[in-house]
Amino acid sequence: MTLEFRSVIDQMLATPNRPARSTPPPIRLSQNEMPWEPTGVIVEAMEKAARATHRYPDYHRTAARTAIAAAMGLDVERIAIDNGSGSLLHGLARLVCEPGVHGVYCWPSFEAYPAALALAGAESTPVALAEDGAMDLSAMASALRTDTRIVYLCNPNNPTGGLVGVDGIRAFLREIPSHVLVVLDEAYREFVTSEPFEATTALLEEFRNLVILRTLSKSHGLAGVRAGYAVTTPRTAEALRRTSVGFALNSIAEAAVIAAFSPEGQRVAAERVATIVSERARMEDALRAAGVSFLPSQSNFLFLQGDAADLLARFEAQGVLARPFPHAGGVRVTVGLPAENDAALAALR
Ligand code: PMP
Repeated sequence: MTLEFRSVIDQMLATPNRPARSTPPPIRLSQNEMPWEPTGVIVEAMEKAARATHRYPDYHRTAARTAIAAAMGLDVERIAIDNGSGSLLHGLARLVCEPGVHGVYCWPSFEAYPAALALAGAESTPVALAEDGAMDLSAMASALRTDTRIVYLCNPNNPTGGLVGVDGIRAFLREIPSHVLVVLDEAYREFVTSEPFEATTALLEEFRNLVILRTLSKSHGLAGVRAGYAVTTPRTAEALRRTSVGFALNSIAEAAVIAAFSPEGQRVAAERVATIVSERARMEDALRAAGVSFLPSQSNFLFLQGDAADLLARFEAQGVLARPFPHAGGVRVTVGLPAENDAALAALR
């Protein structure tokens, strides 16, 4: 007798998994990571926490939530933290979905949205992006049904990098019913230069159905730590915390979060983000000069349009690992160190 899985699990097992690579090209620009090791204050905090790992971490994650709340000027009750914003976006689907309900997300986008909906038993509607690689919010609003419970907004969108400005997000939130949970996934918000960083946080005052998701994996350069946070109403934040796996944020990650939001942690992150943003501009200029087509990006990656297999082979010849998105018509390349970006550019000339 074989074990009976849920049908959604059988479907998952029937689709190919990400290929495991034994010898990936050495220049790793495939996962939108930061190219630097964590700065001293963060490493020291993690080392200190490692010495106390015979104890469980704080169940309520209060110190880490307080550090984030203080940095954002918000009430700590509005914050939930988990091991990666990926966990939070699954947790949010679990809060509002039950079998038979419906969710909406843009596409191509982050693969976790359809996965979270499917695992929560919900049906989903992917909505095509606009030409510029940002979400098409009027098409997304039109895709809502009476049984829609959740909408994922990826802004800037991964893998294309396009951003919908805060006015567009506000207009969307005003248009859709207030019982629909809107998850504004801002994994890359810190790299946005076209409007102020805080612009979207103000929306939380007006819309009680809004959750903003951020992560320490990108701008804070702590992808391996696995920490992300949600900012929302105290009630939704509490629901997220109470339904999360107990103690999921480990004590080393908790220490890293607190150090990342210390003045020194934030200073270093801001400096590194500024370097990436200026490298992004340099790469965009070089790509334009070389006649390579790409989408405008407000993120720490660029989406190059063309034959994905051909682009990937060119990158690999220069030792660069990029991420192909054949269904989106191109390849995504993370902005890295100047020398890494030079290698990526050399592949395209
Ligand atoms: N949202 C988006 C749009 C992402 O691209 C990613 C990571 N690739 C995440 C969320 C998840 O980030 P993490 O779980 O590392 O916090």
